Amino acid sequence: MEYPDRFDVIVIGGGHAGTEAALASARMGCQTLLLTHNIETLGQMSCNPAIGGIGKSHLVKEIDALGGAMGLATDLGGIQFRVLNARKGPAVRATRAQADRVRYKAAIRGMLENQPNLMLFQQAAGDLIVDGDTVRGVVTETGIRFHAETIVLCTGTFLGGVIHIGLEQSRGGRAGDPPSNALASRLRALPFRVDRLKTGTPPRLDAKSVDFSALEEQPGDMPTPVMSYLGRRDMHPRQVSCHIAHTNERTHEIIFANLDRSPMYSGMIEGVGPRYCPSIEDKVHRFADKASHQVFIEPEGLDTHELYPNGISTSLPFDVQLQVVRSIEGLENARITRPGYAIEYDFFDPRDLKHSLETKFIHNLFFAGQINGTTGYEEAGAQGLLAGLNAARRARGLEAWWPRRDEAYLGVLVDDLIRLGTKEPYRMFTSRAEYRLLLREDNADLRLTEAGRELGLIDDARWAAFSDKREAIERESARLKSGWVQPGTAAAAAVEAKTGQPLAREYSLLDLLKRPELGYADVAGLVGEPVSDEAVAEQVQIQAKYQGYIDRQQDEIDKLKRHEATPLPANLDYSRVEGLSHEIRQKLAEARPQSLAQAARISGVTPAAVSILLIHLKKRR
Ligand code: FAD
Repeated sequence: MEYPDRFDVIVIGGGHAGTEAALASARMGCQTLLLTHNIETLGQMSCNPAIGGIGKSHLVKEIDALGGAMGLATDLGGIQFRVLNARKGPAVRATRAQADRVRYKAAIRGMLENQPNLMLFQQAAGDLIVDGDTVRGVVTETGIRFHAETIVLCTGTFLGGVIHIGLEQSRGGRAGDPPSNALASRLRALPFRVDRLKTGTPPRLDAKSVDFSALEEQPGDMPTPVMSYLGRRDMHPRQVSCHIAHTNERTHEIIFANLDRSPMYSGMIEGVGPRYCPSIEDKVHRFADKASHQVFIEPEGLDTHELYPNGISTSLPFDVQLQVVRSIEGLENARITRPGYAIEYDFFDPRDLKHSLETKFIHNLFFAGQINGTTGYEEAGAQGLLAGLNAARRARGLEAWWPRRDEAYLGVLVDDLIRLGTKEPYRMFTSRAEYRLLLREDNADLRLTEAGRELGLIDDARWAAFSDKREAIERESARLKSGWVQPGTAAAAAVEAKTGQPLAREYSLLDLLKRPELGYADVAGLVGEPVSDEAVAEQVQIQAKYQGYIDRQQDEIDKLKRHEATPLPANLDYSRVEGLSHEIRQKLAEARPQSLAQAARISGVTPAAVSILLIHLKKRR
């Protein structure tokens, strides 16, 4: 049957990529259909109920700065918030929230159901309608045909999904959900490069059977951080603690003794797993000299006793999982509520995509999320937003948009995927961004919200809140610059008490704020009234303290832009370029970039290395 309405954009899959894609397209005014297996699983967290963390919170804040849902849903569903790396520099600081799985999902569903221009439909997509090299629509597994200008595919781990528990296998998209086999076969017939990856999840535990007195308590931060730029503490539900347990030598012995029953070590799983989120069997095998690994015991929600033991993801057989869990102090009598498992699935080589996330071979077809070889809700959500907005722009005949590497982690993510592809599940780290001092989680709104407004992603309420904040930062910075502290005054005495040094001459409040011993709270009230908005105060402080480094990084970007077109000779002998590391020499020799800009985009080739290349080229002339 032909569905009577025609859509601008159809998004297939209601996970983290699909929901952001559908919301972005609908926010831009496009008639959008979100077609998904099951409306009850919209926004479902397949694995750990947590959002953010190092590198990942940067993506969440960027999604938020572009009007997306993940940050606000985290504030509505978060039950423990912490800022990681709080004592380190602002570039690597990262907010992490433990989420109540049910509340998070409800928040996402609420946003979807209330979004104008968006229709939800529950059915499995079984086929794509492709006319020559252009996609025209989708056919559900029961034969309903939907037509649209553009399609965004966000099917996660479901394509050809195979679940492994020990040597037992079953077909599934994740535990409790069917795989997408019809669609997987259809896609395999198109000219994309396809391969297999795997990921895993730990068994879940019943809190009533855990001895918390033997575990270390880890409360959230006070005052509670927020995730969204529109987030408020009073949105958060009740806050609870997480706990920390440890594996021990006995745990590791059990795992070693049963490795032959692990599908990964018996060769049954061919897909490569996430290097940075390895299974417990991988950890004890790879780090055999370590006597213990941490296990974070995280609540799954406020209205359930289920716990998520973060750190013991496994595909060992169930009887071994039980022994492993019960070997851990505090978990001796633990009951498992759901076994852990690994899942293998099809992913498509992201080098077959453009920066807009449109496929190179089929026009108007976009891919986003785990289907592109990434892992993580945040990576999926960020791609979904980008693909959704570009699908909407294409449907309207507009040029594609994407941020550059110096503008957003989203730019880094997409550029890495498109140019380098991936051989293992790709996750974000701050170390992947060469300009990380500019790409902080605290300034994602200042970097992206204006572009988001121009793209049609930002509603009036968010725009007003953002504009007010931006003006307040400018006003407060100007006030600090023009407020002076004179020697011999009460204000000077307060500074001297804090720094232990006499104030020899007059200083502006802004200059005082640049001193490492002084923070905003110490100086802002010395002359005039400080601002009460914490986000404004934080931004003013970071900009003051790091201005020198930020300017230097901006200079590097400007220099690189000026020299982007500088050609690199085809016969350049990189082994003779002094100052380059062996690894960078090797990468350049292999990739043979044609220009400095191309060299700069090779992973691991640092801005410093590009400067060395530039100097070398000048010397050769
Ligand atoms: P998903 O969240 O998987 O959503 C896909 C959606 O598409 C689902 O709603 C599904 O119903 C729908 N769908 C699929 N096929 C069709 C179809 N044919 N028609 C209609 N709808 C369809 N991430 C980490 O960062 N760390 C981990 O340790 C980790 N472990 C994981 C362990 C397991 C077992 C699983 C399953 C996932 C794990 N993840 C982990 C990954 C994380 O869940 C994903 O990265 C994230 O959910 C990907 O988002 P997505 O939107 O691409 O796909």
